[in-house]
Amino acid sequence: MKNFKIAVLAGDGIGPEIMAEALKVLKVIEGRNDVSFELMHAAFGANAYFECGHPFPQATIDICDAADAILKGPIGLSHEESQKIPVDMLPERAALLPMRRRYNTFANFRPVSLPKALAHFSPLKPEIIGEGIDLIMVRELVGGLYFGEKEEGVNDEGLRYVRETLEYDEDQIERILHEAFKIAMRRKKVLHNIHKSNVLKSSVLWNQIIDEIAPQYPEVKVVHILVDAAATLLCLNPTQFDVMVMENMFGDILSDQGGGILGSLGLMPSACLGPDKAYYEPSHGSAPDIAGKNIANPYSMIGSVAMMLENSFDMLDEAENVWAAMQGVFADGFSTADLSKPGSGVTMISTQEFGERVVAKLAAQTP
Ligand code: NAD
Repeated sequence: MKNFKIAVLAGDGIGPEIMAEALKVLKVIEGRNDVSFELMHAAFGANAYFECGHPFPQATIDICDAADAILKGPIGLSHEESQKIPVDMLPERAALLPMRRRYNTFANFRPVSLPKALAHFSPLKPEIIGEGIDLIMVRELVGGLYFGEKEEGVNDEGLRYVRETLEYDEDQIERILHEAFKIAMRRKKVLHNIHKSNVLKSSVLWNQIIDEIAPQYPEVKVVHILVDAAATLLCLNPTQFDVMVMENMFGDILSDQGGGILGSLGLMPSACLGPDKAYYEPSHGSAPDIAGKNIANPYSMIGSVAMMLENSFDMLDEAENVWAAMQGVFADGFSTADLSKPGSGVTMISTQEFGERVVAKLAAQTP
């Protein structure tokens, strides 16, 4: 029997609620395969700061180091609550980015997917969605503006200033582009390169490197689009995209727009892969506005489990089963509160009921 150690970081806000449903799914998978999952729970985020003075405490680092994979819920607080934490101890700055840096999880995969049967959840018109939305955003996750040097102070004219550096070297760009080409090869062999080379030198280098490595993937058609135009086209014609590759900040912003065209960020799971370690998390934040109400959509967290099964444990069939179970619950006419308005013909279900229905669907499948 294989034993996989999973660091479970439930996180803040809706994190514990959606994580509870994700762990139920893991139990089903464990029960019917020759595999055991050892869950190692650890504090991470604002809760960890309040408990032990740091959002990524040493005890959590040790657990993550020992894990085969990390399953992470969203972290962070509302704007107002964040004032209770010193700026340098805020969860993203002092926990999330350090985790990405520690495990060098440079490749972030964010599927933006809505089968035709669920198109009613999208704010886009049916004629725009056509046969459904199915694209994946590949985001560079450990470089660029978020990781560059920062400086702040008062300048010679007595004005407060801040300077943040957007830096990439060619190795960083090359490795994420290779990941994007490889996934394009497994899909439709079309790669949309999202850049801003009309303004940013970093995009000029990025584009030079894509030109250099593209001949290694002669079957893949590369299409270049400026990031601002891509934002518009995601709304007007999302089905033209299959694989989109982009640097860190573009990916942060465009992938939230991906959630927007599906109907909710609650439909956005992700995988963050490094050379030796991977972690899996919803693309969204801790949704403080709905925390504790049992109305969050756990699809993003359960989908992150599916991505972990596929990428870390090589359980491709079970990953497919999890996606099918979740989509099956929606296709049966149920909806979480984020995706539909009351009176729209669907039956509203809670976070917990969604999880229970997914578990029931999974259990009814032939594994
Ligand atoms: P958010 O992503 O938490 O929420 C934006 C909107 O989407 C809210 O209306 C929220 O209710 C909704 N939403 C998000 N996930 C949902 C789900 N699963 N089901 C239903 N609705 C959902 O963004 P925010 O409010 O700007 O940020 C809240 C906190 O999260 C901040 O502290 C922010 O820094 C942090 N954050 C963390 C991560 C991360 O952990 N990787 C990512 C983004 C933001």
